[in-house]
Amino acid sequence: VHEGILRRQSARESAARTYARALPIVPVRARGLTIEGADGRRYLDCLSGAGALALGHNHPVVLEAIRKVLDSGAPLSVLDLATPVKDAFITELFRTLPAGFADRARVQFCGPAGTDAVEAALKLVRAATGRNGILAFTGAYHGMTAGALAASGGAPDLQVGRLPYPHDYRCPFGVGGPRGAELAARWTESVLDDPKSGVPRPAGMILEPVQGEGGVIPAPDDWLRRMRRVTADRSIPLIADEVQTGVGRTGAFWAVDHSGITPDVMVLSKAIGGSLPLAVVVYREELDVWQPGAHAGTFRGNQLAMAAGTATLTYVRENGLAERAATLGDRMMKQLRQLQDEFACVGDVRGRGLMIGVELVNPAGGSVPQARGSESDGWDSAAAPPPADPELAVAVQRECLDRGLIVELGGRHNSVVRLLPPLTISDEQASAVLDRLADAVTAANR
Ligand code: PMP
Repeated sequence: VHEGILRRQSARESAARTYARALPIVPVRARGLTIEGADGRRYLDCLSGAGALALGHNHPVVLEAIRKVLDSGAPLSVLDLATPVKDAFITELFRTLPAGFADRARVQFCGPAGTDAVEAALKLVRAATGRNGILAFTGAYHGMTAGALAASGGAPDLQVGRLPYPHDYRCPFGVGGPRGAELAARWTESVLDDPKSGVPRPAGMILEPVQGEGGVIPAPDDWLRRMRRVTADRSIPLIADEVQTGVGRTGAFWAVDHSGITPDVMVLSKAIGGSLPLAVVVYREELDVWQPGAHAGTFRGNQLAMAAGTATLTYVRENGLAERAATLGDRMMKQLRQLQDEFACVGDVRGRGLMIGVELVNPAGGSVPQARGSESDGWDSAAAPPPADPELAVAVQRECLDRGLIVELGGRHNSVVRLLPPLTISDEQASAVLDRLADAVTAANR
């Protein structure tokens, strides 16, 4: 069964398939952290639907919420009509939003995916400001539709200006630490204040508080506060893309809560749907310039996703799973740093909460030359890191799979092993994950 399904699907599916290439498994059952394949093998799933499963697979409260809607005879497809299920979702969502935001915010339900909500956010700030350009950051990922893709980099521009995102390990200025973040912030200010930069008055700035697909790069809180100030001073709406970082993942309910900033727009998806497709933008009411029909979409009313989402948000809030993610994440990263001490190929361990990245490098490859900061200004220059090692990362991912552990790769060079376990992962399961990963690194490093 297992081989047949794999063969048939890889013969017929488009060459654009991604996860299935690295993970030749055929999931048939799942619960919590565990997935069982058609071949009877069991895996610890640290991909978690690319971060969509805050409570893991098939959590009882999520299943119960879905069953309740199904058994109630409520309509499942309702466009954007008002329903009791939606009312409950909005109420719970607003209970969790950053304090400076919640009582004066509006929510727009979007198409089903994160990229739809990004698209809506870009469109909203353009409509609200009457301006066009967007500022985004190096290494960003916002989705696969045209606007979101342009803001992610690589695509021909939709008037997107790109700014340096602070990165301790591969600092764009070769200095790392607070000094690197300071230079990144100054660069941003100079772009905004230089009439020749092409983007002096953009419609908005979009950022991820922790870059996920970009290789798990947490932005320093000071830098985020600075971006908040820089945009507020110039009346530029700040969009926080919390598609991946939201719902407790980083150790706070929303990742912006760490820095205490209140963005103008928040883009939310993945975990807010409790494993089913759901995406919204939440924004300050002053930005609500849309007239009826200005932003439509057939699948904005998924009742099952809203019910699953309400159950998830409530469970995370009532059970303090964000705090749990913070403590367990710190413990896991501490252990991973021991692995880093042991293996020169583990170049960096970073993350926030249960959003963790392990960057694999080739220590024999020398160091990557970087633009250096001034050596005499009293700040430490970061040691230039060795080159990224995507082949080793792929080998580690394969060795993990052989040991029953599913991990995802990311980063600009695809050299970062990413862990996004459910927030419900137990201490014992976390230890099992780390043991298997350590064994995989040992095997792949030979
Ligand atoms: N923004 C961020 C920060 C993401 O991580 C992702 C997906 N990985 C998206 C947007 C796009 O979401 P989707 O894949 O649901 O379109």
